[in-house]
Amino acid sequence: MAKLGPYQVHVRDLPTHRAFEVSAERVSEWVRGLPMRDALGAPEVDPEAGQGTADLELYADDTHAFANGTFKGHLVVACSRCVEPVKLVIDEALRVTFMPKQEMPAEDATTDDDGAEVAADDLDVFPFDGETIDLEPLFREQFVLAIPYAPLCKEDCKGLCPQCGIDRNSGTCSCQAPIDPRLAALKGLKITQ
Ligand SMILES: [Zn+2]
Ligand SMILES: [Zn+2]
Repeated sequence: MAKLGPYQVHVRDLPTHRAFEVSAERVSEWVRGLPMRDALGAPEVDPEAGQGTADLELYADDTHAFANGTFKGHLVVACSRCVEPVKLVIDEALRVTFMPKQEMPAEDATTDDDGAEVAADDLDVFPFDGETIDLEPLFREQFVLAIPYAPLCKEDCKGLCPQCGIDRNSGTCSCQAPIDPRLAALKGLKITQ
């Protein structure tokens, strides 16, 4: 049998109570390539990327496995205005079901036993091969979902000057907003008329 990964648990070991640690190295790997991470210009393996701790009750019935507990940690991304680091706190209650692949809801809406529409996104379900629970996709999701559309270091972050790049939170400059080149062209046109 294949060696278990750090976030995998054999069904035969259930029920069990387990704690898992997610290192900064793992976090770096999982969020690499996301725009608000790459904008930081942090090293590939960033000791400041963040970390996580999961505390879970794991159990199973005949065909499913379940994980209930908490996930706590943090993640550092770039402010969408000034590109300074922003620490995002993660503190989630987890309640997920591991289902055999053939039972997984389709990506589009499907119908449950009561005839109600259920979309895959509404359920915390992960695929399950019947032998090993793999918690890695669940943990990774905690970091990815923690990133808002436009992270901010503070509500009123002033951002960077688009001309000289100075951080307007900590400095000032005398740049003038440039005239929109299309407007400038129109002006030119008027003069020649
Ligand atoms: Zn900012
Ligand atoms: Zn400026």
